[in-house]
Amino acid sequence: MNTRVGAILAIVMSGTAAVSSAQSTRDLDRMNWMEFREYVPAKVQTVLLPLGTLEPHGVTANGADILAPVAIAREIAPRVNAFVAPVVPYGFTGSMDAYPGAFTVPEDAYRPYIRAVLLGLAKNKFKNIILVNGHGGGQTAVLSSVAAEVGREAGVRTLVVNWWSYASDVTLSVFGQDGGHAGENENAFMMAIDPSLVHKERYSPEMATANPAPGTWSAYPNPSSIGLYKAGEGYPTFNLAKAKEYYAKVNDKMAALIQEVITKWDKAGL
Ligand SMILES: [Zn+2]
Repeated sequence: MNTRVGAILAIVMSGTAAVSSAQSTRDLDRMNWMEFREYVPAKVQTVLLPLGTLEPHGVTANGADILAPVAIAREIAPRVNAFVAPVVPYGFTGSMDAYPGAFTVPEDAYRPYIRAVLLGLAKNKFKNIILVNGHGGGQTAVLSSVAAEVGREAGVRTLVVNWWSYASDVTLSVFGQDGGHAGENENAFMMAIDPSLVHKERYSPEMATANPAPGTWSAYPNPSSIGLYKAGEGYPTFNLAKAKEYYAKVNDKMAALIQEVITKWDKAGL
C-alpha cells in the first residue's frame, strides 16, 4: 500500500525542479528530514492525516476505522499532491468500547493530543491539513472543533472529512440502499482493501440492529456491533465486484472534495 510517487511528482513538477531520485514515498514516517525539507512547503503544501479507533465491526476488523482512512489517504495522496501523516489509531470510541479488543481514549486526553498533532503539522509548514476521519460518535465533533481552533490560531487551513457520511450518496447509488456501521458499505470498503479482513462465515443478520431514532432509546454497551442507519437496509451482502466499485467511487469523491476546497481556499486568498 505504500505509494510510490517518483513518476507522479515528476509530472506535478515538470518544467520546474528536478526530482530527487531518493524521493520514493509520500508517507511522512518513511522519508528522511532532508527529503521533507526539499518538498515541504516548496512542492507539497497538503498533508492527509488519517484518524480512527479500535472498536467492533460485525464480521470485519476491529481496526476498520483505522484501515479505511489510511487506505483512502494513500490512494488519493498523489491526486491531490499531498503527503500522508502516520495514522492516529486510538480514538474516542463510544458505546461499543465494552467489546473485546476495543479501546477508547477519554475526550480530555484525546482532544489535547489531537491538537498537538495538528499544531505539529502546522509547525512543519503544511498549509492544508486534511483530517481523513474513519470513526464517528463523539470523535467527529472533537475533530471538527479542534481542527477549526488550530486553523484559526496557527494560520493554516483545515478540513475534516468523515468518509462514510460524505460517501452516503455513493452507498445509495452502488448498493441501492443505505448502509450502517459495519454494514454493507463499511464491509465492502474492507473487502476492497483486503478480502481476508471480512469473515462472511461468521455473519448472520441477527448481528445487526437498526440505530435508534433520536430520543427513542439508548443502551450501553451497544447491543450490536452492526448498526444500520435505516431499519431494514444496509445488511452486508459480501459482493466483491460492488465492493471494488464502491471503493473506487468513494476515493474519487474524497479526492474531488479535497481538491475543490483547496482550490476555493486559494481563490479566496485565505
Ligand atoms: Zn467503522
